[in-house]
Amino acid sequence: MADSKVYREDTCTICLQNLESEAFVTLTQKGLNKVHQSSLECGDVSLYEYLTAGPGCVKIHVTCRRDYTNQKRISVLRTDASEFTHDGPVKKLRSLCNFFPVEN
Ligand SMILES: [Zn+2]
Repeated sequence: MADSKVYREDTCTICLQNLESEAFVTLTQKGLNKVHQSSLECGDVSLYEYLTAGPGCVKIHVTCRRDYTNQKRISVLRTDASEFTHDGPVKKLRSLCNFFPVEN
């Protein structure tokens, strides 16, 4: 427990900075579940455990929530950089586009 982060109600639960510095939101149960799930997917153990404990009130920056629950960011984190291919998904998207009829 020595190095565990300290979560407080007047700081952002994601970045641990002062809430007042940016726009922030108080998470609803649904929002909380989303962040909880993201912390699990990111392997953010301290946040995951904090949210598992069921804190009464979780406040985070709007931008932090957007970034933290961004599926693209999570998949990059989960995929080892060496396995990440740039053109795979793009090719798939292109063939989907071609499938769409173009003539009017
Ligand atoms: Zn923040």
